[in-house]
Amino acid sequence: IESDLRQMEKMQAIGTLASGIAHDFNNILTAILGYTQLTMQKLPPDRDDLSLHLGKVEKAGMRAKDLVAQILAFSRQVEHKSKVIRLHPVILEALKLLRATIPANINIVQNIDTECCPTLADPSQIHQVMMNLCINAYHAMLDDGGQLIVSLSQTEMTEENCLLNAVPGSYLKLEVSDTGCGMENKILERIFEPYFTTKDTGNGTGLGLAVVHGIVTNANGHIMAQSTFGQGTTFTLLFPCYLEDDIDKEQVTNDRVAMGK
Ligand code: ADP
Repeated sequence: IESDLRQMEKMQAIGTLASGIAHDFNNILTAILGYTQLTMQKLPPDRDDLSLHLGKVEKAGMRAKDLVAQILAFSRQVEHKSKVIRLHPVILEALKLLRATIPANINIVQNIDTECCPTLADPSQIHQVMMNLCINAYHAMLDDGGQLIVSLSQTEMTEENCLLNAVPGSYLKLEVSDTGCGMENKILERIFEPYFTTKDTGNGTGLGLAVVHGIVTNANGHIMAQSTFGQGTTFTLLFPCYLEDDIDKEQVTNDRVAMGK
């Protein structure tokens, strides 16, 4: 509980700081990118050298924009709009997008139960959860390829088999597994910390899993990671099923959104 509280405090502080600067920074980047692209268009045809340099400026600018977008998503996560949704269409949509971008040596296996009950969540945030988890999985398999396995099922948790300290009841279980590089325990312990990354500057922000953790917690869900170094990683996410008698809970969540808490 103490580490959860520390995590929350850290996220709030970073969120406030980030939303203050990210917005202005975005405008500056738009100007940098706009004028770079304009100059590229006006270059004389024999200036390949300048075109190469400006191309690098543009690429760095785009990377900075991606980073700002992540920071904004991270600081805005309290403003989510939850509604009663089914998870499978959002997951399938994200997988479609990933299929188009992931290299051929990574095989995507999907095992999605389309009959699962709905849950209370923001679809664009669930989409982001999927993208962040799957892109990490893809990075973990970059060298040798492998399998990305995404499964969704409905599960009943009783006092005896309850995962992740969840309250007994009906849950949607989303699993994202990869056969990639895996993690040592000392890394695994820190992956949900904001700005914790093992990737080179420019390749990792360390915000992806902090965002995922925030989104899942906001949706009253749970998340757990298991990993074996050199073999692969599995993220298990639980979302409470939305049942008819949860209407009160929906009201509470909407109130929380309205109050900005
Ligand atoms: P980033 O990807 O920008 O580094 P994340 O918060 O998404 O930030 O991830 C934090 C760290 O967790 C990564 O740098 C990586 O070391 C580790 N990690 C996350 N997902 C995986 C995975 N599927 N396999 C191996 N390591 C992972």
